[in-house]
Amino acid sequence: MIDCRMNTGIYKLVDTHAHLDEVEDLDKAIDDGKRVGLVAIIAVGQDYESNLKVLDIAEKHKNFVYPALGLHPWSLGNMDASKVDLTLRQIEDNIEKAVGIGEIGLDYDKRVIARADKERQKEAFKSVLELAGRYDKPVSVHARYSWKDSFDLVKASGVKRAAFHWYTGFSSVLREIINEGYFISATPATEYHDEHRRAIRETPLQNLLLETDCPVTYGRETKYQARPADVIRSLKAVAQIKDMSENVVADKTTENALKFFDLPGWTKKV
Ligand SMILES: [Zn+2]
Repeated sequence: MIDCRMNTGIYKLVDTHAHLDEVEDLDKAIDDGKRVGLVAIIAVGQDYESNLKVLDIAEKHKNFVYPALGLHPWSLGNMDASKVDLTLRQIEDNIEKAVGIGEIGLDYDKRVIARADKERQKEAFKSVLELAGRYDKPVSVHARYSWKDSFDLVKASGVKRAAFHWYTGFSSVLREIINEGYFISATPATEYHDEHRRAIRETPLQNLLLETDCPVTYGRETKYQARPADVIRSLKAVAQIKDMSENVVADKTTENALKFFDLPGWTKKV
């Protein structure tokens, strides 16, 4: 049977974590995303230059692309202290335009630590979390191999809305994330990546968001470079793992995303 929902774009979906500044042929990628039902994309930045691009893209695609400004642990290796300060000032100066702060976080892969040690990463992470707390902005967190430290720093910062994107960490930390009312987001790797699949299985729908992290390359045998439209893969894989209808997963994750980023269409209950 043909699933006509896909063709009619009945799903309303939000890609909550996309590196649009790195996507080729962006106008087409955005049109294709709309065709599968995307109603919003959160474009995340990672350093001064990419934050500028993200602001530009969001301006050009108003009411569809929403900017989040970030300071990624991978970028720290290329930045001296004054560039970090400049980026923090940039984030604060543009905080009204940003629907969130991200991508930020810690990465304890040894190649990343070799370029920016744990202390430097933590210092930068604490600074952006402080901004998020002060301006009550949600954060999109990269926590590779640093799940516990990342969670602890977010919690200590008092930030109320946090999404641990593409979560593949320990179940013990995941339980703390859920207990705190934080979120994890599902990428297209939900189709095949064991640790990510386990995390999705263990997370209630009310703590889940969908994303693509495009233009990341996914796939085991057949590889492809993700674009925002591939959020449909995240949706289908989550629905399959949780044995729920795609419709239910789409509705709830979109409601979660609209509320999380306080996007138009989300009505605050008085
Ligand atoms: Zn990312």
